Amino acid sequence: MTTHTTRMLILGSGPAGLTAAIYGARAGLKPILVQGIQPGGQLMTTTDVENYPGFADVIQGPWLMEQMQKQAEHVGTQLMYDTIVEVDVSKRPFRLIGDGGDVYEGDTLVIATGAQAKWLGLDSEEALKGKGVSACATCDGFFYRGKKVAVIGGGNTAVEEALYLTNHSPDVTIIHRRDHFRAEKILQERLFAHKNVTVLWNKEVAEFVDGGGTAGLVALQLRDTVTGELSRLDTDGGFVAIGHHPATELFRGHVELDEDHYIKVETGTTKTNVPGVFACGDVMDKHYRQAVTAAGSGCMAALDAERFLAAEDFKLAEAAE
Ligand code: NDP
Repeated sequence: MTTHTTRMLILGSGPAGLTAAIYGARAGLKPILVQGIQPGGQLMTTTDVENYPGFADVIQGPWLMEQMQKQAEHVGTQLMYDTIVEVDVSKRPFRLIGDGGDVYEGDTLVIATGAQAKWLGLDSEEALKGKGVSACATCDGFFYRGKKVAVIGGGNTAVEEALYLTNHSPDVTIIHRRDHFRAEKILQERLFAHKNVTVLWNKEVAEFVDGGGTAGLVALQLRDTVTGELSRLDTDGGFVAIGHHPATELFRGHVELDEDHYIKVETGTTKTNVPGVFACGDVMDKHYRQAVTAAGSGCMAALDAERFLAAEDFKLAEAAE
């Protein structure tokens, strides 16, 4: 059992955590970054990335994360592989405890544990992920220019994704298991007014249909949630938009969360309700959820942490005089 100490402790190794690490290291804070169970975050399971600025050609998600990781290490971040099982943010230094008993102590803590898209859980969904089935229209919608697409869900995300897809597709169907949406009224009005959108009520996906060979997804088999009747909807893309799970279980009861379990931050900053603890990326952002916005908020978290430490150091120096 070893105790590792740092001025800036970061939990999570997606774009948010690694960007916080790059800025923290360059500010001389010698960050320690603890990688979670899925090092690199959601981009590790993404193939083509076309919307991360700086790359004229299509790049691969895992390659982008590898570059960010190397960059963080080159500027002086210490990367640790561990699964954190316990946190104590009741006093400083903040403490994280790994499953092997190692202790990580930080004068500041940056939480960048991310979020995971929820899936329907069908075998055919798993088999067709990246071959017509996606959980991010903003990321993948562009690949369906001029094609037929379907969105599954009835919340703000589903309605926003359907509206976003109308930029690319002349034929967008939104499939919801009930007969009304939970999305905000204004979004619903925009959706209903759009001539390229069809709404199918009381339907759930029974199966994603594989066209065989290299075809990928070709249709959805739908089940009526009232009558049980089966029907088929031909489509080129299926976007599952039934919500996300922010990875905040560890912090429940320690840091303030909102009603959807995302970490609450002071507007316009990455400050949580615990002074010295900051949150960035998808764990605090249910609106944008992009690699570039996660990276941007990671930068903000590092700057917030650096300023917090500078203010604390100043207070200590004044008290010592
Ligand atoms: P929500 O939990 O609000 O909605 C999930 C939707 O998916 C619901 O309509 C739900 O159906 C449906 N659903 C859940 N599980 C299944 C399933 N197994 N099969 C079929 N349908 C299913 O998630 P969102 O991601 O839409 O939003 C999360 C939070 O983020 C909300 O607070 C939302 O307001 C916020 N948000 C805000 C935005 C904005 O302000 N612009 C943008 C995006 C999100 P049912 O209704 O029947 O439960």
